[in-house]
Amino acid sequence: TQFSDFGLIEPLQRALAAKGYTTPTPIQAQSIQPLLDGRDLCGIAQTGTGKTAAFALPSLQHLANSNKTRPQQGCRMLVLAPTRELASQIAESFVAYGKHLRLSVLTVFGGVPINRQIRQLQAGVDVLVATPGRLLDLIDQRALHLRGVEIFVLDEADQMLDLGFIHALKRVDQLLPKKRQSLFFSATMPKTIAELGDRFLTDPVKVSV
Ligand code: AMP
Repeated sequence: TQFSDFGLIEPLQRALAAKGYTTPTPIQAQSIQPLLDGRDLCGIAQTGTGKTAAFALPSLQHLANSNKTRPQQGCRMLVLAPTRELASQIAESFVAYGKHLRLSVLTVFGGVPINRQIRQLQAGVDVLVATPGRLLDLIDQRALHLRGVEIFVLDEADQMLDLGFIHALKRVDQLLPKKRQSLFFSATMPKTIAELGDRFLTDPVKVSV
């Protein structure tokens, strides 16, 4: 498989070429087509496998191709990550792969003042990358709603549970629209994590690398 086999839109192909990527990693080879088809996905994959591009490329294509607009104080895609470092890395990847698209990317995490984030959310964003605690703070302050989310990604679910985010994740699940595409990633998939995944996913494609 080559990236060119997926028929990705030209702005994404140019961004991949700029990165120097020609061959998809195994998780990319298994995930990109079902995600382009709109399927939900449950992935067992560690960081370093290329999973960020596996979910960023099809998502960016969906966002670029649909004519929906950014909901005020909302986002069209929500990516949840357990730590600020991971959230920042994911956002950087979206900016790199989306550099030829007119899509906005915002990262929000705790430990920094919230007021700037509230202002940055006012007009809405296309892609919001967030840690769960700050996400809920922003929602509780009425600076953000999740009603317009078309694509939801939960990354590193096992770390999320280790960090005590289970209650926060259940709240997020209740706030998300029912009709959406969901992606769920974890390095390991014991029963408790698989059950958490079941909450978010509908008939997912299962990928393990
Ligand atoms: P990730 O697992 O998403 O953190 O990605 C791990 C690293 O692999 C990152 O530095 C990516 O930029 C890089 N990478 C992702 N996909 C590819 C690819 N198809 N070919 C070469 N490098 C890649």
